[in-house]
Amino acid sequence: MKRHGRPWAVILDIDETVLDDSQYILERWQTKTPATKGRFIEWCNRRQTTALPGAADFLHEVHSLGGRIVLITNRSEEVCGATRDNLHRDGLEFDAVLCSSGGGDKNLRFVAVQKGLPPSTLPSLDVVMWLGDNIQDFPGLTQVGMREAGDDAYRDFGTQFIVLPNPMYGSWTGNPIRWGGCSAKSPLSAVDRQLGGPRICRPLSKPLAVVHRRDNLSNFPNTCCYRRVKPSASPPRHL
Ligand SMILES: [Mg+2]
Repeated sequence: MKRHGRPWAVILDIDETVLDDSQYILERWQTKTPATKGRFIEWCNRRQTTALPGAADFLHEVHSLGGRIVLITNRSEEVCGATRDNLHRDGLEFDAVLCSSGGGDKNLRFVAVQKGLPPSTLPSLDVVMWLGDNIQDFPGLTQVGMREAGDDAYRDFGTQFIVLPNPMYGSWTGNPIRWGGCSAKSPLSAVDRQLGGPRICRPLSKPLAVVHRRDNLSNFPNTCCYRRVKPSASPPRHL
């Protein structure tokens, strides 16, 4: 099947889009060890990441309809082989995996797939859909840009752009939260920064504890209120 006379493809991210890394995140909590590049490389080399529900069926359907499947990930080149092994082990079909050779910007790889240029090894493809768990999995989009954009900027979501929710981590954790009189630059930080216990922003009218955080709140000098929750041996509720 060709779309508009041209071969077509679907581009997907890998982590938290077709593979589920929640075990890696859980291990960080259980061992109270922050996520680092080295620990993630070890995790990738274990080849034990499981497929997200529905991923195998979706990818098989794309192939059944005649489309190509290109996986574009910011996993580094050094774990690309292990990642392909992992995908095969989980029965996830694909035609190409493009890992990161440095930097997290995927736009050059998106264009390479569309034009059939290196690092893509496939012919020029008409990309009909992007799927990912981060705004940066979609061409030309950024967290800051979409935060400030109007509703029109979201018109392709749900059809051409499909977002899978990732409550564990992502560029969204850097978004400012404003709740009542409390402003915070990044009160919900990455999981490794939550090892001391999640902090929940509360309206100033209901202070549970008042903490001056001058480290990452220099742009918001007002006092913020946080409820400090003691770390628990049990996994976080979002896993
Ligand atoms: Mg991802």
